[in-house]
Amino acid sequence: MEMDQLYTELILEHNQDRRNKRLLDTFTVSEHGHNPSCGDDLTLQVDVEDGIVKDAAYTGSGCAISQASASMMIDIIKGKSVEEAFRLVDLFLGMIKKEVTDEAELEELEDAMALQNISNMPARVKCAVLAWHTLKEALKKEAN
Ligand SMILES: [Zn+2]
Repeated sequence: MEMDQLYTELILEHNQDRRNKRLLDTFTVSEHGHNPSCGDDLTLQVDVEDGIVKDAAYTGSGCAISQASASMMIDIIKGKSVEEAFRLVDLFLGMIKKEVTDEAELEELEDAMALQNISNMPARVKCAVLAWHTLKEALKKEAN
C-alpha cells in the first residue's frame, strides 16, 4: 500500500471512529477552538489528575482533517503527564512547520504522523493544528 493511501485511510478511520468524540462526565478543564477559514469548531475536555491527563475527549463539527487530528491527539496524550503533553503538541506543530523531519522522532506522534503531508497543503494546515492549539490553551489553564 502506498504511504499516502495508508495515511488517507488513517484519517478516514479516525474521522469515523467516535471513541474520542464524546462528553466527559468529569473534567478539570475545557477549551473551545475555532478555525474560521474552514468552519471547524471544537470543544476539548481534559481531565487532569495529579499532573496526568487521565482522560480527554472532543465534541464539535468540522472537516475530516480537523476531526481526525483531534482524535489522533487524544489517543497519544491520554495517560501522559501535562509536561509530556505540551512536548507532544510542540513536536506535532514542529512537524507541520517542517522544523522536525526526523522520522524516528516523529514516531512518538503515532497515527498523527499521517498528517505530516498536510504541511504541503497550506489551506488545510489550520484544520490539522486546531485541536493541538486548543489543547495547549487548555493545559495552560490547568497549569495555573
Ligand atoms: Zn477544516
